[in-house]
Amino acid sequence: MMQLLDFFDGLAVLLFVISLWVIVFLRYVLVAGIFSLVFYVFFKKRYLHRKISTRLRSSSQHWKEIAWSCCTSLIFALSGLGLVWLWQKGYTKVYIGNTHSILFTVGSLFLAVLLHETYYYWLHRWMHRPKVYRWVHKVHHDSIVTSPWTAFSFHPLESLLQAVVVPLLVLIIPMHLYALVFLLIFMTVSATINHLDVEIYPQHFEQHWLGKWLIGATHHSLHHAKFIENYGLYFTFWDKWMNTESSDFERVFQEKTRPKD
Ligand SMILES: [Zn+2]
Ligand SMILES: [Zn+2]
Repeated sequence: MMQLLDFFDGLAVLLFVISLWVIVFLRYVLVAGIFSLVFYVFFKKRYLHRKISTRLRSSSQHWKEIAWSCCTSLIFALSGLGLVWLWQKGYTKVYIGNTHSILFTVGSLFLAVLLHETYYYWLHRWMHRPKVYRWVHKVHHDSIVTSPWTAFSFHPLESLLQAVVVPLLVLIIPMHLYALVFLLIFMTVSATINHLDVEIYPQHFEQHWLGKWLIGATHHSLHHAKFIENYGLYFTFWDKWMNTESSDFERVFQEKTRPKD
């Protein structure tokens, strides 16, 4: 097994965590920054009718979200450290090279996303139990009107519950290193789209054979506005099966995606 980090060298471990912290935080800033510039600055007028919430954000909201996200990035970096440790010990199923087909790689990614969805849906419902909510999930819901900067805005306890996902997934699913990197970027982009508060999917997408299973900004904005319903992360299937999808979703989606006169 390739030696990436000497875990007996404290300074090397510290530098590794700091570097990873910076990378994870910059990934968040870059993705949230691009989406903010595109939908709130450059094409603001074009997407104004697709803005979901009619309420206003407080002037300090973005800064609070960025501060919590900085803390989340550190916890994700520590999870990355754990992942490297597991990898070097040979416990993970992460591989490099062409040992499996492209189809296998795509299949492993799809399975990882489905398992993540299932973990998150039930974790999310648990986090909405009043006693848990106060300590774990409230920070995220302080953003009643979301924005790309809300994507990583979690209390450290919630960050920790989310940070264990990737190391757990690679313990059970054989995954190519590049597929893993893709998954990490996909997670950030998806979280940013869902918190955009601007519906970017096309008209009738909520009835499309594929679109109806995907979560977007309208779906998740309704969760932040109402606190109940729409608990999913990437897909709507758990919400549909468990009858927790908002009955307003289709109406709001159609309203926001109707072409402006
Ligand atoms: Zn929630
Ligand atoms: Zn959210």
